[in-house]
Amino acid sequence: MNHPAPPLRSSASTEAFLTNACALLGDRGLTTDPERMDTWLTDWRGRYTGRALALASPASTAEVAGLVTLCAAHGIPIVPQGGNSGMAGGATPDASGTAILLSLRRMNHIRSVDPASGQAICEAGVILQSLHEAADLAGMRFALTLGGKGSATIGGLIATNAGGTQVLRHGTMRAQVLGLEAVLASGEVLDLMTPLKKDNRGFDLKQVLIGSEGTLGIVTAACLRLLPAPIGRVTAWVGLDGILAARALLGQMERAMGEALEGFEVVPAHCLESVLAHQPAARAPLARQYEWNALIECVSPNSDDAALRDMLETGLAAALEQGLIADAVIAANDTQAEAFWALRDGISAAERARGPAMQHDISVPVGKMPEFILAAAPALEEAFPGTRAVAFGHLGDGNVHFHVLAPAGAVRGAWEEAEGKAVSARVYDLVTQWGGSISAEHGIGQMKVDELARLHDPVALALMGRVKAALDPQNLLNPGKLLHSEPRR
Ligand SMILES: Cc1cc2nc3c(=O)[nH]c(=O)nc-3n(C[C@H](O)[C@H](O)[C@H](O)COP(=O)(O)OP(=O)(O)OC[C@H]3O[C@@H](n4cnc5c(N)ncnc54)[C@H](O)[C@@H]3O)c2cc1C
Repeated sequence: MNHPAPPLRSSASTEAFLTNACALLGDRGLTTDPERMDTWLTDWRGRYTGRALALASPASTAEVAGLVTLCAAHGIPIVPQGGNSGMAGGATPDASGTAILLSLRRMNHIRSVDPASGQAICEAGVILQSLHEAADLAGMRFALTLGGKGSATIGGLIATNAGGTQVLRHGTMRAQVLGLEAVLASGEVLDLMTPLKKDNRGFDLKQVLIGSEGTLGIVTAACLRLLPAPIGRVTAWVGLDGILAARALLGQMERAMGEALEGFEVVPAHCLESVLAHQPAARAPLARQYEWNALIECVSPNSDDAALRDMLETGLAAALEQGLIADAVIAANDTQAEAFWALRDGISAAERARGPAMQHDISVPVGKMPEFILAAAPALEEAFPGTRAVAFGHLGDGNVHFHVLAPAGAVRGAWEEAEGKAVSARVYDLVTQWGGSISAEHGIGQMKVDELARLHDPVALALMGRVKAALDPQNLLNPGKLLHSEPRR
């Protein structure tokens, strides 16, 4: 189902819209200055650049509601944007220059952090790292983190149902959201902020908005789950001779560490090399290089570092004895643990610096991921001679970032243009054959709209289309993202 293109407007209507929007938001809240808009019109990966009629930065839910009402009256499309750290071009407007870019960054107030109830109330523009720091000060923690935590906002994390490195234990953003406030395409405010543990008054509408990538509503605030701050935390870096051993180790660690096992990431030698080259101050954790590495993190609200370390040491010693792992080091302190994580978190940027590549964020059933990697990487390299396929990331969630690196000497931009579509189609075909998802974390944005339409279940797609049409009949909320829009007439 294609959604109607937002109507073309007369310049008088556009002028009237801008005048009213300026009156509503003031100079700080609205600009058409190309220089002030420029930074926000290209996505994090630098793959998409768009144009916008204006950059609107409302400071309150009431201002968002007023602005969306104006947009609805004048038929102005809206592209919501948080930290612009998304990986699928979802927060970048198209080239027409007819949409407003609606930035939530000024709505960055943490309204409350309540250790007693284990809840924080945040506006949509709160940066993830700020929430971590505020929770920490209150003796609590927000149990979702990712490499873009210094830019990603609560609204963006909700809109993309972000994952990260603690999903294994704590789930995705969906599991952290207890209540939600959003402005709908009509300008109405949907207030679902009361965090009821039990509530059976029909559909759970917040779940429809989570992961909808700004196509069904503008998230303005959320009530989020906090956990007690950990007492103990240990982090280990493990050298492995193969990815099958990594899966076996994951099972063993789950048994040995129980609920304390919070992160299990895999890093192939290629990615570690890239990070070491890109971050001159970084050091390899182990003396020798291994084909694969696992980064393991265990966290407990009850056991202290020493007790956790004992458990982990015992588990790793058993794995070493069985020949499952080749070597391991447990971080001696927080600084060393952070250094291990910096190696993992630095992969995206380091791989990007190394040369052109097509990146895919995919999942298959957890137990099948090692076999998938072993089958898919050579299949890609054979289909596209000279390329190299590398996979890294959240093995414990059955989700890896699967990058296909261009042949040596390929020119950035030109290679992606010439080969990118075919490479990605091949990856997504394989993922679909393996019963997986073409987007495990980053969403569909504008990057995967065609592939979603090609490969997703037609019944599910049609249903999503009907939900979109019901909630946003003019197709003004992030048109062309996630679902197809009709070409503009
Ligand atoms: C180094 C790095 C590592 C990353 N690692 C991970 C990872 O491990 N896991 C993961 O899931 N992601 C990861 N990301 C991607 C990114 O951080 C997440 O997708 C994040 O959720 C985007 O948040 P944002 O505020 O930057 O959103 P934006 O990029 O601004 O927007 C993303 C989408 O959400 C919509 N949106 C934004 N705010 C709102 C709102 N208030 N209401 C409605 N719609 C909105 C936008 O229109 C767009 O469609 C990483 C990014 C970087 C740069």
